[in-house]
Amino acid sequence: MKEILQDLSRQEIEALVAEYGEKKFRAQQMYTGLMQGKKVSELPVSSAFRAELLRRFEDEPVKIRETFVSSDGTKKFLFELADGNLIESVFMRYDYGNTQCVSTQVGCRMGCKFCASTLGGRLRDLTAGEILSEILVVNRTEGGTQKSRAVTNVVLMGSGEPFDNYDNVVKFLKNVSAEGGICISPRNISLSTCGLVPEMRRFAGERIPVNLTVSLHASSDEERKRTMPIANKYKISEIMDACAYYFEKTGRRYIFEYTLIADENCDREHAEALAKLVKGKPCHVNLIRLNEVKERALTAADEKAAYRFLGVLEKNGISATVRRSMGADVGGACGQLRASYIGSQNR
Ligand code: SAH
Repeated sequence: MKEILQDLSRQEIEALVAEYGEKKFRAQQMYTGLMQGKKVSELPVSSAFRAELLRRFEDEPVKIRETFVSSDGTKKFLFELADGNLIESVFMRYDYGNTQCVSTQVGCRMGCKFCASTLGGRLRDLTAGEILSEILVVNRTEGGTQKSRAVTNVVLMGSGEPFDNYDNVVKFLKNVSAEGGICISPRNISLSTCGLVPEMRRFAGERIPVNLTVSLHASSDEERKRTMPIANKYKISEIMDACAYYFEKTGRRYIFEYTLIADENCDREHAEALAKLVKGKPCHVNLIRLNEVKERALTAADEKAAYRFLGVLEKNGISATVRRSMGADVGGACGQLRASYIGSQNR
């Protein structure tokens, strides 16, 4: 694979322009073009310089291979990377703006039992520029510009564990929020982790004010181990300490994700245990009914169970919501589209 121009910050593009002896103002033109979602071959530079760039950099690191539109307006994009790998991303319209859910790795190696992303393991990390390009491409396709964006919010909840690709994800967060770029504020970005404790602590020191979301899905280590292998490595108590540290360093509340799985974690006792665990903490709980994955023998909790669970949390004074499920008819859950696509290709 060639290098990825979208990996570079504005300053790095200035250095590149200088390296090739091009005029300084080219840097701004190139950067603006990239932020508009242009391919390298579409950048407003001389044909000789463009040829140099194309020798060294991928013309289009993230290409739309297919688009699936759900009845609720949610769009699921299947992207092809320069090396032929496939990733996916979801674009959801809400009253307050549009949220794009991006992938951070090709596949995932965390092994959560309910998740489709992890079915084939992790193939590779995405670079900062590939993650950014997921957004640039969708923003352009949806009619957004650099100033008037179609993508207003971003969640790192597609395939991959963001903290298993720490450096590239942090670089992406810096580039996506940089002044003069696509400029999406960290406050409009949510980063979801299955709870890699050392990286959570390290991230607190970066002082990038995103919304930190932690996938909990259970209130005791024994129960968590049943669905999340990472629970063998880090205890819930260590995750809680890392969250407290994050709050201490950044002053930002954090969010717990709790996927409701029938006969697994959604009885009244589970709700009481979760309430006890998070009570008094500066956090919010997001309840999600499992999106059933056909390769996994797990069933979603029904809606009644979800609202009963919510009721117990509320009675205990916990800030919590049941997340509306979107795009179910287009394989909205993590990794479902890629998994089914690869599956159909192999048949
Ligand atoms: N690796 C990160 C981010 C990706 S997943 C993490 O673990 O947080 C984003 C969220 O979707 C996580 O909370 C994950 O546990 C959840 N999730 C994965 N598969 C799901 C499914 N089939 N139904 C509901 N939620 C799911």
